[in-house]
Amino acid sequence: MKIAFFDTHQFEKDLFQEMANNHSHDIVFFETRLNHKTAHLASGFDCVCAFVNDQLDAATIKILKDLKIKLIALRSAGYNHVDLKIAQSLQIPVVRVPEYSPFAVAEHAMALILTLNRKTHKAYNRVRDNNFSLNGLVGFDLHGKTVGLIGTGKIGSKLFSILKGFGCQILGYDLKVQEELQKQGLKFVSMETLLQNSDIISLHVPLTKETFHLINDKTLSQTKSGLMLINTSRGALVETKSLINSLKSGHLGSAGLDVYEEEAGLFFENKTDQILQDDQLARLLTFPNVLITSHQAFLTHEALHNIASTTMDSINQFQQGKTLTYEIV
Ligand code: NAD
Repeated sequence: MKIAFFDTHQFEKDLFQEMANNHSHDIVFFETRLNHKTAHLASGFDCVCAFVNDQLDAATIKILKDLKIKLIALRSAGYNHVDLKIAQSLQIPVVRVPEYSPFAVAEHAMALILTLNRKTHKAYNRVRDNNFSLNGLVGFDLHGKTVGLIGTGKIGSKLFSILKGFGCQILGYDLKVQEELQKQGLKFVSMETLLQNSDIISLHVPLTKETFHLINDKTLSQTKSGLMLINTSRGALVETKSLINSLKSGHLGSAGLDVYEEEAGLFFENKTDQILQDDQLARLLTFPNVLITSHQAFLTHEALHNIASTTMDSINQFQQGKTLTYEIV
């Protein structure tokens, strides 16, 4: 198969090249993100391989269809950036990597919690500057604190296990109550109860019409003062304006964000030499109690290997006319 690989990053290129060689696929890496303006690059290919910030909207998919693209392979679990209806109506199957390492994302969420709480990022810089003062570095015991998990699927349930080890009380809100997790001590509650009782809230639902701006003025007003909010899921789960207002008022105690609703074009890129044009992100970066990482929660060797091998498996299945195990239907 001829594969057009969009939004290529150095951390994944060698692995994909090696696997493509092993399966005799011809792969070309484009650094540019896929959208209706760049889709023409896929001319002469059979498959496009896309990442989280590629825009597979109706216009892009129609161009891909005209170019005779037969398969869209996402190197991500989330597929909120794909117009599935159009892809289905044009009979282009879309495959994804539903599970590559829930541990990677859950462990990064935990890293954000620990860093924000114990301020190790500040301590690291201070000590390197011979500043051995502890002022301003006071944290809290996680033991006995209540953590609310919004979404208790693959990632949320892994974070539940980690937090249990810290002696936290864990509340969960999900469309589905999972009895197995309940037996292990996760208490499923209403959204309202979770908002009102949590010291820390971590988001693990996909971005859908229902979850868009789930965290907004209204939901934030229902939370405890001093709440720590963690988002490693998708940026648009949180209304940034509301987040900023709550941080400014001092109601929200801290925020750890691996994703941001306007991250496309910024996250994953080195913009050191440029002036940041996004005023909301610039404002967020001024808060001493906000920690932002640029969509790196998935970034472990294990996850990258699984992403590459699952994607290659799907491409092989398609080439061999087999049922696509990871097709989004
Ligand atoms: P999952 O499908 O296993 O779990 C999602 C859970 O959310 C499910 O239990 C589902 O029932 C629940 N849910 C869906 N809609 C809901 C709603 N409206 N209200 C309440 N619950 C709802 O998915 P996962 O593997 O745990 O991944 C979760 C999300 O994490 C993904 O959708 C993706 O956006 C994000 N993610 C981020 C990174 C990263 O690097 N930052 C990496 C992988 C995944």
